[in-house]
Amino acid sequence: MIRKSTAPSLHPVVGQLVSVAAAVSLALAVALASLSSAFAYQTFGGKWSAITNLQICVSTSYGNDSYRWLDSLYWWNITSTDFGYTTTCSSNVISLLDANYSGVGWDGLTQMSPSFSSNPYSTGWGYLNYYYIQGYNPYKANSVSVHEMGHLLGLAHETGCVSMVDNTYDRYEVCGIVSPTQDDIDGVNYLY
Ligand SMILES: [Zn+2]
Repeated sequence: MIRKSTAPSLHPVVGQLVSVAAAVSLALAVALASLSSAFAYQTFGGKWSAITNLQICVSTSYGNDSYRWLDSLYWWNITSTDFGYTTTCSSNVISLLDANYSGVGWDGLTQMSPSFSSNPYSTGWGYLNYYYIQGYNPYKANSVSVHEMGHLLGLAHETGCVSMVDNTYDRYEVCGIVSPTQDDIDGVNYLY
């Protein structure tokens, strides 16, 4: 069940089809954006009081979604950030869940309570949408779960080839992003 008490962060699934000329322009624009926005991570303004041992419950219903969430914890855990975690479903502050919705345009979604700009956060929820995830290879699914974990740590969307770029097509198909990039890591180290 999607909780609607907080503003969701939605993620478009696919990029728009563009002409070759437009694609070249877009690629150039992305390159320039990347150049001019190096280390330009964005944050929501909120954060956890600490992330050294976040209590996290992984509870999914479809396919290998639980493994994709656990992969995202692994990828963030090996970064040079303070992020650490314990998996528990009794005293957790973060729930990593899934859903199977055909009528929506998102493959991943994050919600925070009290809000994305709260300091500190009290509760967070991440969802993978199996309707799309089931058609992704594990790496592409990881690009989504790692992105959602970035939101759950307080990172907002950013342009360029970083984990926090909002569109899965750009993030994985164009950029090949599976794990946190230096810009994403810098953002978390800025917050914590
Ligand atoms: Zn997002």
